[in-house]
Amino acid sequence: MIRLEIPDDTAAELCALGRLASDRGWVPATSGNFSARLDERTFLVTRSGVDKGALSANDFIAAPIEGPLPAGVSAEAPLHAARYRSDPTVGAVLHVHSIAATVLSRNAREIALEGFEMQKAFEGVSTHESVARVPIFANDQDTRRLADHVESRLAADAFAPAYLLAGHGVYVWGARIAQARRHLEGIIFLLDCALEERRLRP
Ligand SMILES: [Zn+2]
Repeated sequence: MIRLEIPDDTAAELCALGRLASDRGWVPATSGNFSARLDERTFLVTRSGVDKGALSANDFIAAPIEGPLPAGVSAEAPLHAARYRSDPTVGAVLHVHSIAATVLSRNAREIALEGFEMQKAFEGVSTHESVARVPIFANDQDTRRLADHVESRLAADAFAPAYLLAGHGVYVWGARIAQARRHLEGIIFLLDCALEERRLRP
């Protein structure tokens, strides 16, 4: 395990995010995981199996972005590490299991969100007159293999800062925790809208 001073403010920001996600029902039954980049080689990630609504600084592990991950990290940590490896501007990665993300990701390869004011939650988007394309990947319990698959498709196309895993949940990222949190709140809201629309117009 990497012996590294874990910055109090980074852990505190992620703990606050865990409480928010839990209050909104996005991380039931210890699901979800959160991480933040500590430097160019290291990231901080939640331990496996902890309640995200009651996180403390002890519930995080510092892990290398390259190389083997330490025991005890979330089983989905390879998906976080891959985001940091592929994009040096990524400073935080967040993953939750909201109902809309879980349901809408089944039986599709992509969701295109269009005409919503909330698309402006995504960095660089200044108008609702745009399309936020969110790719969907088949779920896979081999998260290293899944990470390779995800990153090859993200590298080849232009997508919103989020992707879905079918029947599973959503991943978002940002340059900092605050930006990733804005992207998370934005995508959850947009997916909720898309689900409501399908209820109204099946
Ligand atoms: Zn998950």
